[in-house]
Amino acid sequence: MRRRRFNKKTTTVALIDLDFLKDVGIQGIILDLDNTIVSEDDFYLSPNAEHWVEQAKLAGIKFFILSNGKRRYRVEYWSERMDIPAISPARKPFPFSFNQALKSMRLKPQQIVVIGDGFHTDILGAWLWNCSSIQVASLPHPPRWWEKIAGKWLQIPYPQDFELWQLSNYQVISNQ
Ligand SMILES: [Mg+2]
Repeated sequence: MRRRRFNKKTTTVALIDLDFLKDVGIQGIILDLDNTIVSEDDFYLSPNAEHWVEQAKLAGIKFFILSNGKRRYRVEYWSERMDIPAISPARKPFPFSFNQALKSMRLKPQQIVVIGDGFHTDILGAWLWNCSSIQVASLPHPPRWWEKIAGKWLQIPYPQDFELWQLSNYQVISNQ
């Protein structure tokens, strides 16, 4: 059965309904790291995200991290911590890293959903590859110059009253 690709928005990764993903034939997730799982200043962790990833893996879903982050040790740390292969810097939305991720997972674009907070990187990349996408709110972080100008069009602001976890081992990561 052919499935139509979908584009959704939600607040956090852990709010994504795994039964829905399975129902629509998703077998792989391309996951963003910065401001999706962990804030780029290593201060906040997306609530329940790691548990959600574990549940998704138990449901048979494959993962691949594509991070545009240039601090490779950070991506390596999270890749190891979550036991997910990763490419960084992935230069999303350009196609090279998406191609690598799809090949590595041995899945077709219609079986993949890209989850991330950046419209011009994650969501645009998904669109270029004909994958489904789910845009999550950006974890709070110090804004970059372009985010001050264009952030409101490219990102979903994290709701002020929504739960937020502080990354407990912040010191460990920032000292590497
Ligand atoms: Mg991001």
